[in-house]
Formats: sequence, structure tokens, C-alpha cells
Amino acid sequence: MSSFTDRLCDVYAPEIADRVGRQTAAYKRMPDNVLFRVQQVRVHISELDLPGPTRQKVLCSRCGQMIRDGRHREENGRAVCRPCTGNGYFSHAREITWPDMNWSPVN
Ligand SMILES: [Zn+2]
Repeated sequence: MSSFTDRLCDVYAPEIADRVGRQTAAYKRMPDNVLFRVQQVRVHISELDLPGPTRQKVLCSRCGQMIRDGRHREENGRAVCRPCTGNGYFSHAREITWPDMNWSPVN
């Protein structure tokens, strides 16, 4: 059974027997309107997600960490950072040090 892609490649590079070679040649020959689906869309982007200076700062009511641009959660009307809610991208945080961590270029 041949896929839609295989059938397209058969149209654009029928003289090439090798499947991968036919695909490569066909992709070079296909017009943009066959290769790509182009759509104009609307995307909602919050002002807080735009690049640039921090627009909002709040302190986590549990750990005191500064939370920027709406990345906090509300718990009983108080701001809480994601790690404190258990929804951070990391877990098991613990303070660590290493021998050169106090290195300074000005000594
Ligand atoms: Zn916190």
C-alpha cells in the first residue's frame, strides 16, 4: 500500500526507482503549494509573554522568591510560585555549594 506522499513522489520523480531517492528528488521539484500548507492565523499572546522588561513582579508567599510576569499561582488570594505548589519543572530542590562558587573576576 502506498501513502499519499509516495503517490506524490511518483508524480514528481517517476524515473527514480529507489524510494528514498525518489522522495528527495520529488521534494526538490514540488512547488511550495504542494510542499507546504500555509495559513494565516490569529494567536493570542499575553502581554506578559512578550519579550522585554519585566511587567509584573510578585513575591511567593511561601518561599519569598520573586515571580515575574504572571508565572505565579493564586492560593487563598496569595501569590505562590510553581515549585511551591508542586507544579515546578523540577523537584527535590536542595541548596548546594561547590568549591569555586565564590570565584570573582575582581580579586
Ligand atoms: Zn515559592
